[in-house]
Amino acid sequence: MNINRSKELYREAEDHIVGGVNSPSRAYKGVGGGTPIFMDKAEGAYFFDVDGNKYIDYLAAYGPIITGHAHPHIAEAISKAAYNGVLYGTPTKLENKFAKMIKEAIPSIEKVRFVNSGTEAVMTTIRVARAYTNRTKIIKFAGCYHGHSDLVLVAAGSGPATLGTPDSAGIPTSIAQEVITVPFNDIATYKDALEKYGDDIAGVLVEPIVGNFGIVEPKPGFLQEVNDLAHEAGALVIYDEVITAFRFHYGSAQDIVGVEPDMTAMGKIIGGGLPIGAYGGRVDIMEQIAPLGPAYQAGTMAGNPASISAGIACLEVLQQEGVYEKMDQLGAMLEEGILHHAETYKLPVKINRLKGALTVYFTDVEVENYDQAEATDGEMFAKFFHLMLKEGINLAPSKFEAWFLTTEHTEADIKETLRAVESSFKALASE
Ligand code: PMP
Repeated sequence: MNINRSKELYREAEDHIVGGVNSPSRAYKGVGGGTPIFMDKAEGAYFFDVDGNKYIDYLAAYGPIITGHAHPHIAEAISKAAYNGVLYGTPTKLENKFAKMIKEAIPSIEKVRFVNSGTEAVMTTIRVARAYTNRTKIIKFAGCYHGHSDLVLVAAGSGPATLGTPDSAGIPTSIAQEVITVPFNDIATYKDALEKYGDDIAGVLVEPIVGNFGIVEPKPGFLQEVNDLAHEAGALVIYDEVITAFRFHYGSAQDIVGVEPDMTAMGKIIGGGLPIGAYGGRVDIMEQIAPLGPAYQAGTMAGNPASISAGIACLEVLQQEGVYEKMDQLGAMLEEGILHHAETYKLPVKINRLKGALTVYFTDVEVENYDQAEATDGEMFAKFFHLMLKEGINLAPSKFEAWFLTTEHTEADIKETLRAVESSFKALASE
């Protein structure tokens, strides 16, 4: 495969853009480096790069592109918004329509606020929880990613219930000390943390179905206990549904796990591919926010007509009958095929799948928490990633990410992908 033009553009990018990319994982550091492919055009389930190569895409831009690239209904909505003026700084009726759609789909949300990214949404839920409880500390779960605000870039690694250390330079230790990290699916350690710090905990932040160390579901009863114990301690529960809202069905992960949080943060899919975030929850909590309450949050771009129009259009596509069932079926076909090829070539592979999202781990051990995900074979994943890319399959460049199906993938795409998987596994097995 010729990627000369990507190589040239990457060299140029490195001269002008820090690291050559505008978000670090795009530089393939998680898969041993290499030349990031520069895409030129995307349509449906496919990417076309600057050298003219075609790829089947499972990155889906890290989740938002659930209706495939350049979906005509969304493209039309964005185009209409562009000709109507993309940014007003005043309220619009589009925002009312979208707020109602979100509330109808996620009943725990009584009031909502739109922002510009998942990072902003989560960051603000923490501020609101602190304002509401008059406390400062939060509990989070190891390996869950909640954006790049100071407070949540802490102790992404796992361990016992200890105070956090910053994961990034530039974050004061004093801020990290406000975060207690505990392993996902481990109720005993969570209980210990609440016993030790309960009176200081403003909120417990969790991905109800994890997307950031692969797709990892909570053990039965785990999230109910998380809720009950948090509430007993006087803390709020915040679900980070930036990945999961509208991913598995028309609604939130709350419906799947059967537990309702006090607040929910969203992003990704609800913007139809344009920048967006949103947070919402119980009305008495949301009324902490300006202009009604003492907690401040604002945004020049927040609720802009382009993002809101794209979000409405995306949800309209997802309301169509059968779209989630189709992603589930294709996901099952992928899972079965990959496991079959793994068995043939005697490779240690485990798959965590929920509907149209799956993670392929190179390991013999079931993955239920971050430590187990971390222990999977990253070198083998890196080789697999590069082999698949050469076969025309674009995966997320990290062993911790999911493969995302879209409404536009077809059975033929899955067959072609499985052919590439077989050829990649054969190469891995022969090493
Ligand atoms: N929360 C979760 C669960 C996420 O996966 C992400 C992004 N991957 C974020 C928050 C941050 O969202 P954004 O990149 O839009 O700021």
